Amino acid sequence: MRKSFIAGNWKMNTDVHSSVKLAEGVVSGCKDVAGSKVDVAVCPPFVYLQQVSKALQSSHIALGSQDIYFEQKGAFTGEISAAMLKDVGCAYALCGHSERRHVIGETDELINKKVHAAILGGLLPILCVGELLDERKANKTDEVVTRQMKKGLAGLIAEKMSAVTIAYEPVWAIGTGLTATPQQAQEVHALIRKLVAQMYDRKIADAIRIQYGGSVKPDNAGELMSQEDVDGLLVGGASLKTEDFVAIVKASV
Ligand code: PEP
Repeated sequence: MRKSFIAGNWKMNTDVHSSVKLAEGVVSGCKDVAGSKVDVAVCPPFVYLQQVSKALQSSHIALGSQDIYFEQKGAFTGEISAAMLKDVGCAYALCGHSERRHVIGETDELINKKVHAAILGGLLPILCVGELLDERKANKTDEVVTRQMKKGLAGLIAEKMSAVTIAYEPVWAIGTGLTATPQQAQEVHALIRKLVAQMYDRKIADAIRIQYGGSVKPDNAGELMSQEDVDGLLVGGASLKTEDFVAIVKASV
C-alpha cells in the first residue's frame, strides 16, 4: 500500500512574510492528517527555505527545493548543492520540473545528474516528466515519457529507487487551468509503473510513488487520486492558497 504524497511547488512566488504565513497555515490545516495518513511537502523559493524550515519545525510537513545543482561545491555561481539544501532542512528536491526543462533549457542528461546528486546528498528526488501539447497531439506522449524516465533514471541502481518519486506533469496542463482527465492521468501513470518494472522489478514498481501535476484544484484532487496508479499530487498555483492546498491534502486521504 503506497502512502499518498502531496507536494506544493510555490515556484517564484511569495516573500519572507507570506512564505512563513503560508507554511504556518499548511502546518495547522494539515495537522490531523500529515505524517499519519499522507506525506506532505512544500517547495518554497530557495531564498525562503530557511524561514519556512523554521515554520515547519515540529510539524509533519516536509521541506523540498524546486531545483538542485549536481556538483558538490565550488565555482558554480548561483547554484545550490545538495549539502546546502540538507543544511537548511530539505528532505526533497524537485528535479527536471517542466519549467526548468522548457523555460531554462535543462536536458535529460543534466536532470539525471541532479537526480544522482540529490540521492548522493541524502535528499529524495522528485523526477518530473511530461509531454508538451504538440507531443500529445502527435501521439508521442508514451515516447516522450519513456525517454525522460530512462534518461532521468540512467545509472541509478535498484537499491536507490526507494528514494525516488516520479511526478507526471503534462506540460499543457501546468498553470493553464487544463487538467488531464483522470483516465488520461491513469494511462500515463500505468505506463510509468510498467517502465519501472521493466527497468528494475515488479516490487520496486509497486512501491514507487507517482504524483500527478497540472492544474490540480480542491475539486479535481479526489477524482485524480482515486485512480489506481495516482499516488499523489504535485500542486503549483493552488498550493499558494492555504485553504486550497489543505483541501487538496484532505481530499487525498
Ligand atoms: C507545477 O508547478 O508543478 C504545477 C503542476 O503547477 P499548476 O498546479 O499551477 O498547474
